[in-house]
Amino acid sequence: MKLLIVEDELKTAEYLHKGLSEQGCAVDVANNGIDGQHLALEYDYDVIVLDAMLPGLDGFALLRALRGVKQTPVIMLTARDRIEDRVRGLHEGADDYLVKPFSFLELLARLQALQRRGRSQEPSQLKLANLRIDLLARKVWRGTTRIDLTAKEFSLLGVLARRQGEILSKTAIAELVWDMNFDSNTNIVEVAIKRLRTKIDTPYTPKLLHTIRGMGYVMELRDEDSPT
Ligand code: CA
Repeated sequence: MKLLIVEDELKTAEYLHKGLSEQGCAVDVANNGIDGQHLALEYDYDVIVLDAMLPGLDGFALLRALRGVKQTPVIMLTARDRIEDRVRGLHEGADDYLVKPFSFLELLARLQALQRRGRSQEPSQLKLANLRIDLLARKVWRGTTRIDLTAKEFSLLGVLARRQGEILSKTAIAELVWDMNFDSNTNIVEVAIKRLRTKIDTPYTPKLLHTIRGMGYVMELRDEDSPT
């Protein structure tokens, strides 16, 4: 899940960034409304967590600008003593709201619910040959063998499997699976692909995860196994 957090309280922003990253999310953070608006319009996020009270451009103005362009799901964070903010946020097109202070687990549950709603057109399972991925339960099988993946490995596999047959560059993968500003070190992609391949591809046939030299990686079923 790719998330944008727009929050000017640095402690809260940091806490959310850490917690959500640990859940396998790719998280961008903006500490003011102007930066938040720029990122929200420029990139496609699964969900935006938007604080109502922000310096520069507040959450409502950001939401209005966003809704003129796209329908990215938004959860607004509002202060406990400002009930009118919740109503206003929902009127402006927020999909959900949370009152501060909120529990991290509740935020996580709501993020997942919004993502499910946003992806209701998408299948909950992906299949390629004998590889089966349950996107909701976050489980993976090769034939009848259940494979355990870390949160990041699952995100990586999801990105590749959703785009079967499409060659993805290391930079594209880095942007989709990790933070977007992570450009210089694509070595981490190579390492992660290698680890994922060891778990989901190497011990099994047919081979599904292919390296395209100088271009990137592709997940597809081929007539013959290609060299890696
Ligand atoms: Ca604030």
